[in-house]
Amino acid sequence: MAEPVPPGHQPPGAAPRSAAPAGAAEAAQLEQLLRARGALRTGHFLLSSGLHSEHYVQCQAVLAQPPEAERLGAALAARFGGAAVDLVVAPALGGVIVGYEVARALGCPALFAERYQGQLMLRRGQQVPAGARVLVVEDVVTTGGSAREVVELVRGAGGVPVGVAALLDRTAPDLPPIFGELRFEALLRLQAPAWRPEDCPRCRRGEPLESPGSRRAGAESGGAGGR
Ligand SMILES: [Zn+2]
Repeated sequence: MAEPVPPGHQPPGAAPRSAAPAGAAEAAQLEQLLRARGALRTGHFLLSSGLHSEHYVQCQAVLAQPPEAERLGAALAARFGGAAVDLVVAPALGGVIVGYEVARALGCPALFAERYQGQLMLRRGQQVPAGARVLVVEDVVTTGGSAREVVELVRGAGGVPVGVAALLDRTAPDLPPIFGELRFEALLRLQAPAWRPEDCPRCRRGEPLESPGSRRAGAESGGAGGR
């Protein structure tokens, strides 16, 4: 199941097979970074997926810092060090910077898919070569909708999706694996529940809803909104 990790990709001191200790350190480090930059807050928030949550995350506060973005990209890339990735494809806008940094660490090109007339597609002359092994990279996965759309786009182009990588996994804990058989890795798992508006307990209590990152409730890949 676990891919062999080339020595160059193994963080020093990490156990050879189980990534648990290194993973836990990475998760703590990312959470600390996000909190230090005010990018992780508690309240009543509208996420760009349309769900409501008590927690708000805006990765851009961290990704705006090139050294931090590079370090996070490298940590995420290391999870797929043995997967022989040819290409990274990220959904715009949220996935673009982290996708680029993961690609830098893997030594492969970084493409992005953007929403055009309601559909994620490759534009600006970007192409997935037939047979290319593709890693799909997101900043935050909540419902997984955008990442799944990119996976399908890659398949449609004749590429081979090898996994989905994200800085943050904030999927509901009781769901089956949202990408099916496809490997999914995230640096940090946020256990914060998210609700549909009609199920939201804070809405029921009449608490005002904050929409901190974006002025509109858009699709998950709006990217400008909080997650
Ligand atoms: Zn609510």
